[in-house]
Amino acid sequence: MNKPAFLCLLLIFLNACQTPKPPAKSTEKEKQATPGVSKAPVSTPIKGQKDRPNIVFIFSDDHSYEAVSAYGGRLSKVASTPNLDRIAKEGIRFDNCFVTNALCGPSRAVIQTGKHSHLNGFMENEHRFDGNQQTFPKLLQKGGYQTAVIGKWHLGTDPQGYDFWNVLPGQGTYYAPDFRTPKGLVAGTPGEYVTESVVSKSIDWLEKDRDKDKPFMLMVQHKAPHRFWLPPVHLLDEYVAKDYPEPKNLFDDYKGRGTPAHTQDMTLRVTMDLALDNKMVPFRQDRMNAAQKKKWNEVYDKIRADVLNKRPQGDDLVRWKYQRYMADYLACIKSLDESVGTMLEYLEKSGLDENTVVIYASDQGFFLGEHGWFDKRFMYEESLKTPLLVRWPGVSKPGTVNKKMVSNLDFAQTFLDLAGIEQPSDMQGKSLKPLFEGKEPGEWRESVYYHYYCFPEYHAVRRHDGVRNSRYKLMHFYDLNEWELFDLEKDPMEMKSVHGDPEYTEVLSHMKGELAKLREEYEVPPAPKLRKGETLFPPWREFGTFEIGLSDKGWTSLFDGKSLDGWRQPFASNPGKPLSQIAEPVGIDVVDGEIRLSPAPQVFYLHTLEFSDFVLELEAFTPGKDFDSGIGFRCVLPKGKQLPAGYQSEISDIRSGGIYDIGVGWMNPTDEEAKINDFVDRTDTFYKAGAWNQIRVMCKGERIRTWVNGQLCSDVKDSKHNVGTIGLQHHSEEGVYRFRNLRILEI
Ligand code: CA
Repeated sequence: MNKPAFLCLLLIFLNACQTPKPPAKSTEKEKQATPGVSKAPVSTPIKGQKDRPNIVFIFSDDHSYEAVSAYGGRLSKVASTPNLDRIAKEGIRFDNCFVTNALCGPSRAVIQTGKHSHLNGFMENEHRFDGNQQTFPKLLQKGGYQTAVIGKWHLGTDPQGYDFWNVLPGQGTYYAPDFRTPKGLVAGTPGEYVTESVVSKSIDWLEKDRDKDKPFMLMVQHKAPHRFWLPPVHLLDEYVAKDYPEPKNLFDDYKGRGTPAHTQDMTLRVTMDLALDNKMVPFRQDRMNAAQKKKWNEVYDKIRADVLNKRPQGDDLVRWKYQRYMADYLACIKSLDESVGTMLEYLEKSGLDENTVVIYASDQGFFLGEHGWFDKRFMYEESLKTPLLVRWPGVSKPGTVNKKMVSNLDFAQTFLDLAGIEQPSDMQGKSLKPLFEGKEPGEWRESVYYHYYCFPEYHAVRRHDGVRNSRYKLMHFYDLNEWELFDLEKDPMEMKSVHGDPEYTEVLSHMKGELAKLREEYEVPPAPKLRKGETLFPPWREFGTFEIGLSDKGWTSLFDGKSLDGWRQPFASNPGKPLSQIAEPVGIDVVDGEIRLSPAPQVFYLHTLEFSDFVLELEAFTPGKDFDSGIGFRCVLPKGKQLPAGYQSEISDIRSGGIYDIGVGWMNPTDEEAKINDFVDRTDTFYKAGAWNQIRVMCKGERIRTWVNGQLCSDVKDSKHNVGTIGLQHHSEEGVYRFRNLRILEI
């Protein structure tokens, strides 16, 4: 197709959010002023059971220790967390708490079971937790404890072993969060903010619903600060105005490390989405109330106008994204900290604090710009470590700093031990109770074992396992057979692997021995095979949850990897013939599970089915030299001419989305076209020639949105045309065009 090759892009979009709420403190005041709602809550503490303390486990999602000011990191002055710091000040700060697998679901499954992922069966977020297995809450119940979990659960199946549960469905939403209960889904309340809701429900349970004659174990589990970091509106002004210190390795070039650090997909530069992550398009706000929307738009419209005016590029754009990222992330943390304050205040007022162990931890760490990244998954420090703070009045010595190597693998046994319940011999951790009590255990572990299993997956982090001791870390990316060894004393930021350095021969040998020992001790089997096809992306679950609640159900494959069933060439030898006589495809073939378009007189192939509202996902590979090739969709069928008539929208090596009216040209409104051009000028096109690209298209009603490699890059409206087919095309006569993993979900 001869179409003008100017680049466009469009940005609009997203709805998102939900609603503000007054600050936590005023909420609490309001509550107390409201008749019937816990006026100065006073509970009866469990007396005479010092040996069976209550446990309040406050747990967050993706909270980097760098963002807890008690740890004194680079952000501690600009974004302090006084309430979390109070736990450390009145109790213990653990400086070496590691996770066994830095991913949300797996970390939670480890905590439930006290077993590594390969034994509890929950190795990846796509898995569903088998709640029939032995878990610590069931054992606590048997031992006479009441158990409750409130907030983020993220294990797929219903919680078992809890007297009370009230959890977020999936990832949950920041605004007006829905909750799942044993009786079904309870719709969110406009005006509520998730962090505050989780704590107020937790306090309600403590105050009203528990049996006050029994000791309890309460898990207060937050969604925050998980991506996409939507803060409560009362903190927007303050956090947007701050200037956040950058990490020294924000512009890491990954020299000195192997393939995985180079090929990940989690950089601020490329992966961080200006639209979704940085909120630079207006987004869905159907969970916000009017006041929240107003405030949100006031703040973000201004930032948007400012960035369009300044147009940062290259490193400046990375710096700009970092500041935006920190403002949102740290405002979510501030809200979390306020909610911790609310809980501590309640415990104090109710008198429960004296016999309650308060534990704060996160499911893993998070990169806050270190190595130029966000997200987690890697065994590098920022992701591997979680904050762990513990307060046990009268037992733990205030202001203690503990440097022992501890792990989320230890939590289950710690809870049991605190309750005076026997620890099952098949749990794999160690009780931390002696450390809470300030005892110096004779023997402690020298190293911890780590294993990340999810490739292919979002962020393209390769599978690896490894071992870390107090000074060294060895990582094995076994699918690539690449190793990295770090001397954390000399290189705390992990910038140069010393795996090949002869000076470290002995260290390497020792660490390999440790790794082998831990693999044996923990009964680690060989890693399962990689998922079929090694696709870079399939589910895009994060977008799904955020956008329209997609699941894996209902997807139809447009290509079975073996045949071209369902595909045809629309205008080959007899262009005037009706549809039923359309010719066989020419220049289109199946090789190695891919549809390949090779140079041929014809350039367009259509699927036989028509779709109206849908989400389409696929991967496309265009040779480096070629021009204007890609995927089209919603093409109408031919009307006896050489080309399909009607409209198409397409993604190619020169364009990321947009709508083309065959015979007329690109149909984006002028102002949108200008925005697209601005965007491309500033960010470059998102489609990479000579590489696999992840493409997602969502057509709903008159609206067509396009994501390429995780970036929303086009959002246009085409009210005239909303039914059509999916087409594959190429434009030049060079190279072979490859497509795979095409699937579609009608919505
Ligand atoms: Ca997490």
